[in-house]
Amino acid sequence: MSHDHHPIMRLAGVYKRFGDFTALHSVDLDVHEGEFLTIVGPSGSGKTTLIRLMVGMDEPTDGTIWLRSARIDQVPANKRPTCMVFQSLALFPHRSVGQNIEFPLKIRGVNQGDRKTRALELLSLLRLSEHYYHKRIGQCSGGERQRVALARALAFDPEILFFDEPLSALDYRLRKTLERELKDLHARTGKTFVYITHSLEEAMVMSDRIAIMREGRFEQIGPAEEIYAKPISRFVAEFMGEVNLFPVVKAADGLEGQGLAIKTNGHGAGADMQPGARGTLMVRPEAVRFLSVGEAADITVSGRLHSEYRLGSRNQYEVALADGRHVAVEALRQTGHAPPPGAEVTVGWDLAHCHLIAET
Ligand code: ATP
Repeated sequence: MSHDHHPIMRLAGVYKRFGDFTALHSVDLDVHEGEFLTIVGPSGSGKTTLIRLMVGMDEPTDGTIWLRSARIDQVPANKRPTCMVFQSLALFPHRSVGQNIEFPLKIRGVNQGDRKTRALELLSLLRLSEHYYHKRIGQCSGGERQRVALARALAFDPEILFFDEPLSALDYRLRKTLERELKDLHARTGKTFVYITHSLEEAMVMSDRIAIMREGRFEQIGPAEEIYAKPISRFVAEFMGEVNLFPVVKAADGLEGQGLAIKTNGHGAGADMQPGARGTLMVRPEAVRFLSVGEAADITVSGRLHSEYRLGSRNQYEVALADGRHVAVEALRQTGHAPPPGAEVTVGWDLAHCHLIAET
C-alpha cells in the first residue's frame, strides 16, 4: 500500500443540503491509494449520502471532490468508470455466471475470447472453480452470488470499489466467511476499497482505517486499533463497543473520580492535563479482571456480581458498585471458579490499559 502525498480521492469542504436540512457539514477526507477504508456511523449520520457523492450519483451543494488531479464533483456516475459501487442484487438471474461477469467487458467491446479468459481469471481470483462459468445465477447459493457479483465488479476494473452494506442481509456464518474473503480479495487485487457498514465487527476485521461519522461530520479517522484503543470522544468510545467510562478530575499527583483515586505519578493517562481539568477515563471490559484476595492492580473497585452474559468463548460480567454504577468485565469463560451471581467481588485493571478522553 502506498500512502503517498497524493490521495486517490480527496474531498474538501463538502456540504450536502436537502432543503433546510444539512446532511453533510464541511467534510474533508483523503482516501489513500490501495487502502481498505471503512465508514461507520449510526443510522442517518450521512454515510450513504457521502458515498453517493463520491461515486457521482449526486452532486455536493458545496465543496470539491478530486480523483487524483481531476476535479470530479460535477461529473456524473456514468462518466466516472473508476468508481464502482458493488451491488449483488443487480446480477442477471437467468444468465450464466460467465455472461454476468463478462457483461462490463461486452459493453466495452472486448472480444469473446478475451472476455472468457478474463472471466475465468476472475472466477479463480474469487476461488470459484471453472465449472461455475456455465452455471445460471439462479443455481448459485447466496455466498456464490456475492462472489460472482464481486467478480463482475472487478471486471469493470475500477480504481476504487465502493461497498454500501453488502453483507447486512446475510446470515452470521456466511457474513464471517465473506468478511475474510473481502479482506483477502483486497490484499490480492491491491485496489482501493471504500466500505460502509453499521457493524463495528466488520469494520474491525477488514479495515486499514476506520472513519466514524456523526451527524454529517467525521468524528475520528484512523487505523482500526487506534480508534478502538484511543477514541477522541465518548461517542467514539461507546460506538466502538462495550466500554467503562469514569469521569475524572486531574489532581496534583494523579486523577480522581467518584470513588476512584488513581496515582499516576506524572506518567500515563492524564500526564499532560492541568490540575483541575476534567476528563473521562476509559477502560475496555477485556482489560478488567477479577482479583483474588491479596492480588493487586493499579485501580481496584469492589461491588456485587450483578449479571453474566455469554459471548461465545468469552463471558461478559456486570459488577454493580455501591453507588449504583456498573463495571463491565469480559473474560474467558471461567470454568468452575467463576463467582456466583450476587457474590461480593473486587475487580481491577492497570493504568497501562486506560485511555483518557479530554472531554467529560
Ligand atoms: P443508514 O445507516 O440508516 O443507511 P446513513 O448514515 O447512510 O443511514 P443517509 O442515508 O446518508 O444516512 O442520510 C443522512 C441524512 O440525510 C438522514 O437524516 C436522511 O433522512 C437525510 N437524507 C438523505 N437523503 C435525502 C433526500 N434525498 N432528501 C432529504 N433528506 C435526505
